[in-house]
Amino acid sequence: MPNYNAVTPEIIAQLEKVAPGHVVVGADVNPDYSRDEMPIYGTRMPEVSIDVQSTEEVAGIMKICYENNIPVTTRGAGTGLAGGCTPICGGVVICTMRMNKILSYDLENFAVTVQPGVLLQQLADDALTHGCMYPPDPGEKMATLGGNVSTNAGGMRAVKYGCTRDYVRALTVVLPTGEITHFGSTVSKTSSGYSMTNLMVGSEGTLGVITEMTLKLIPAPKATISLMAPFEDLDACISTVPKVFMNHFKPQALEFFEKEILISSEEYLGKQVFPRQIEGTDVGAYLLMTFDGDSDDELDPIVERAAEMLLEEGALDVLVADTAPKLKDTWAARSSFLEGIEEQTKLLDECDVVVPVNKIADYVRFVNATGDQFDFTVKYFGHAGDGNLHIYTCSNDMAEDEFRKQVDAFMSAIYKKAVELGGQISGEHGIGMGKVKYLAEAVGPVNMQLMQGIKKVFDPKMILNPGKVCCTL
Ligand SMILES: Cc1cc2nc3c(=O)[nH]c(=O)nc-3n(C[C@H](O)[C@H](O)[C@H](O)COP(=O)(O)OP(=O)(O)OC[C@H]3O[C@@H](n4cnc5c(N)ncnc54)[C@H](O)[C@@H]3O)c2cc1C
Repeated sequence: MPNYNAVTPEIIAQLEKVAPGHVVVGADVNPDYSRDEMPIYGTRMPEVSIDVQSTEEVAGIMKICYENNIPVTTRGAGTGLAGGCTPICGGVVICTMRMNKILSYDLENFAVTVQPGVLLQQLADDALTHGCMYPPDPGEKMATLGGNVSTNAGGMRAVKYGCTRDYVRALTVVLPTGEITHFGSTVSKTSSGYSMTNLMVGSEGTLGVITEMTLKLIPAPKATISLMAPFEDLDACISTVPKVFMNHFKPQALEFFEKEILISSEEYLGKQVFPRQIEGTDVGAYLLMTFDGDSDDELDPIVERAAEMLLEEGALDVLVADTAPKLKDTWAARSSFLEGIEEQTKLLDECDVVVPVNKIADYVRFVNATGDQFDFTVKYFGHAGDGNLHIYTCSNDMAEDEFRKQVDAFMSAIYKKAVELGGQISGEHGIGMGKVKYLAEAVGPVNMQLMQGIKKVFDPKMILNPGKVCCTL
């Protein structure tokens, strides 16, 4: 581990000067700041936490920590699933949740400028009042936009609209030295040197602290319809996915899941939305897709054609959600899978692998066969439209050491298979500290050294979010 200094009373006094009233020390620090949603990767309390209020405050804090060689970890809402905001070396946690203002709209250029602690749901709702949509739609709506940009969050609509990266126009960033810099601008295209904006997106708080963001918006679609297609088994369900694209459909969302995971989510919500039997046949798996457009008249023929295709591919039925309450219930059930699993599970780890769409069925078969060799239960669901699968290892009765050992063997095998099929380690949750080893195995030493070189240019003393993405301690 790099040789960091402890936060002394003198340093606390300096921090108090740049962030008066916001410096919290020792036992008063909120215990949540020791972790994100995946404590299995490790937890540690920081010595100090500061709920920052401005770019200048962040710059002042970074300057002090840089001069004194103190590790700093940036935290948004702490909903990450890779241990990204866990302050594994202690030091200072900067939390952005109070920098939560939507600063301005530029409706002529379809852009909005926000502070990093604005929540995804806050922007989604506010943008609609201006007739606009912010398309990225990750499952956790209470995550901050700073966290979304830093993890390049994906979500349900990525299949049509892309991920957070595609909506980041400009950033204000505080570098580990405390310097303030700006990357990108409101323009919609650029060929102006290396894309520093893109480098920041998905860098998981290892290169700088994002303190302001200009994000792209689009005109809000006026009509949305979802189709639920129950299938007898998972194989038939997943095999249908490439056909959706081959038939030139452009769904806004395309998700698959098995019945077991749906039941945990419906139990968590206390409401059954999806049918479990169709005319005496047990449903094994479901495809859920949404189409959006300018009017119901535009969508009706698309929906009709999609329903015909689904039935031809073996769907037991096709159910339509075309009213606001039906859409809300349908997507609430889909959005609560993780909460449903968490509620029923003591020990949990996850893999957020992404494979080519036409390889999903092969990959799921491999995951099932591999999972059978271990003592934990494997549960999964996926953004079928973009090949991004969330695979969970769950146990209520294994000893933690044994769980970790078996999970490591399982994860190594399934990551290796994903890479063989042309996939990648993380589709949207990031690497954090939980997946550094698997990333290194997947991309090899040359790429790891390139990433470590970039890290050193931004952060020569390696004080910002140590032990994450491409660096181990
Ligand atoms: C129920 C549930 C569902 C989820 N569904 C999805 C999903 O569908 N798609 C998806 O992509 N993710 C999903 N996630 C994961 C999580 O919500 C995202 O990773 C989200 O982007 C994290 O945002 P956050 O504000 O919680 O960030 P945190 O967890 O606080 O931090 C995440 C990373 O970003 C860095 N960071 C945060 N803010 C800044 C900043 N201002 N400057 C620099 N670095 C910063 C941190 O250091 C850390 O490395 C889900 C999580 C849960 C619990």
